[in-house]
Amino acid sequence: MSRELRVENLRSKNEGKFQWKKAGTFGDAAVFAFYPNKQITTGEGGMVVTDDAKLASLCRSMANQGRGSPHGIPIPRGKGGEWLKHVRLGYNYRMDEMSAALGLAQLSRIEEIIAARARVADWYGKALEKIEGVESPYVAPNVRMSWFVYVIRLSDQYAREDRDQILQKLKQRGIGCSNYFQPIHRQPFYRKMFGYKEGDFPITEQTASRTIALPFYNNLTEGKVDYVVEDLADILRSID
Ligand SMILES: *Cc1c(COP(=O)(O)O)cnc(C)c1O
Repeated sequence: MSRELRVENLRSKNEGKFQWKKAGTFGDAAVFAFYPNKQITTGEGGMVVTDDAKLASLCRSMANQGRGSPHGIPIPRGKGGEWLKHVRLGYNYRMDEMSAALGLAQLSRIEEIIAARARVADWYGKALEKIEGVESPYVAPNVRMSWFVYVIRLSDQYAREDRDQILQKLKQRGIGCSNYFQPIHRQPFYRKMFGYKEGDFPITEQTASRTIALPFYNNLTEGKVDYVVEDLADILRSID
């Protein structure tokens, strides 16, 4: 999930005003990804949360190669015939003990990690304010943002070719950056499955062609943030 633990903004049906809800507390289910580049990691893997007992049972079963979980709890390995009984087609998505232990240790540091990332995002936001032609990510008032990546957007005057040239020049200067993901409808699977083509979502495509993911991690220093932003400004001046 991009920006895991993001706080979403939902309009309350009854009161007609905005209500803030914690990530993972609305909808039928929510997912948290724990790949190493995420705020917290278990090495690989993730988690589904739901308050629907049936759905929870189904998830446990599917993660456990389709074995049943008759009482909503995973069947202990090797306990009688149940372990050998497959009630549906499933997967081996079990989280192992080592990964879970790493996750728990990470979880105990989550506030510190989120704060460190927020500090880096703040430094970027302040440094980028002074730069013409780039927009930093918008955070709505009263939202507690849990930063995952830091993606800026070049202003309309820049084309995809400019963005690509800027990326290349940043990389030449030793600054790790990326264009980040292309919109989902441009992913080969979605093209094939749903017949999407270039031009179907022009605003999305326009926006995506101007994004740059800047270096972003917990221990990035203010000095390095300034270094990145100064180089970016320098490159923007050189291609104007
Ligand atoms: C992490 C991530 C996902 C989820 O991938 P996992 O395999 O669950 O880690 C999906 N999309 C984006 C953009 C991500 O960064």
